[in-house]
Amino acid sequence: MTAQIINGKEIAAKKRLEIAEEVEKLKSQGITPGLAVILVGNNHASQTYVKNKEKACKELGMYSLLIEMLEEVSEGELLAKIEELNEATEIHGILVQLPLPKHIDEKKVIESISPLKDVDGFHPINIGRMMTGQNAFLPCTPYGIMVLLEESDISISGKHVVVVGRSNIVGKPVGQLFLNQHATVTYCHSRTKDLKFHTNQADIIVAAVGIPNFIKAEHIKDGAVVIDVGINRNEAGKLCGDVDFDEVSEKAGYITPVPKGVGPMTITMLMYNTLKSAAESLNRK
Ligand code: NDP
Repeated sequence: MTAQIINGKEIAAKKRLEIAEEVEKLKSQGITPGLAVILVGNNHASQTYVKNKEKACKELGMYSLLIEMLEEVSEGELLAKIEELNEATEIHGILVQLPLPKHIDEKKVIESISPLKDVDGFHPINIGRMMTGQNAFLPCTPYGIMVLLEESDISISGKHVVVVGRSNIVGKPVGQLFLNQHATVTYCHSRTKDLKFHTNQADIIVAAVGIPNFIKAEHIKDGAVVIDVGINRNEAGKLCGDVDFDEVSEKAGYITPVPKGVGPMTITMLMYNTLKSAAESLNRK
């Protein structure tokens, strides 16, 4: 069997068109969705991510504000800036690019962002709301995965989903979103005994491990849906996922490639969350 490719680039482009249309509607009501991104220090990967977020905002007609702070900025100064943005009416989403320098407490920073502007969906209030099935900002990568499946007409209810990885930003929340949609969910991680035993039972596998080509054909059953979240470099320096695409795509029913799979959805859902925040701010007026 040769898997059908889930084309994240195409699905993201479609979603972005829809978002751009909604942005225009909001603008006609006097609101331009605004996203503030705080970048601390000069981590090269973070600079690239931030640049891509700014570009996406501009393309969709949103307002984008980049705040760059020096590596040695104090935690107090960063918190004061966030407080200012929490109050700023032209800003609907606040994102602090992670990781932060070691002297700054990431947890404290995330918790200082108003849950109403937490478009990354990392604030404990939004996580709690997501877990209890209430209106929330959903974390962007997990949310993007759910949209990929929905757009590919892959049903979730009653399916067995195995999530490999349990980080707070990908593994844990994506499992919760599947559970909210009535899947049976198994989490695997570095202490899991006999990973293959679990993954072989999966109708849908999400790989969020951070190890190049970690999931092999022997890990999956025929026809499984395989979602590859990984963004890694292989020994030759080439971008690759957590799934060995060449062999797994011969056995899976559906597969997301890397690049052009999950990656393009993450920023798209960030834009969606910023739009949602702006629209909700209108309702609070
Ligand atoms: P983390 O490093 O935070 O988590 C990795 C998880 O994998 C951990 O839960 C860890 O288990 C588990 N793990 C490690 N080794 C094994 C193993 N041998 N067997 C089973 N599980 C294992 O990574 P992230 O969740 O942040 O990211 C995962 C990947 O996704 C990375 O490649 C990252 O670059 C990519 N990513 C992509 C995004 C996108 O937009 N496409 C967004 C975010 C991340 P334990 O908890 O026990 O340590």
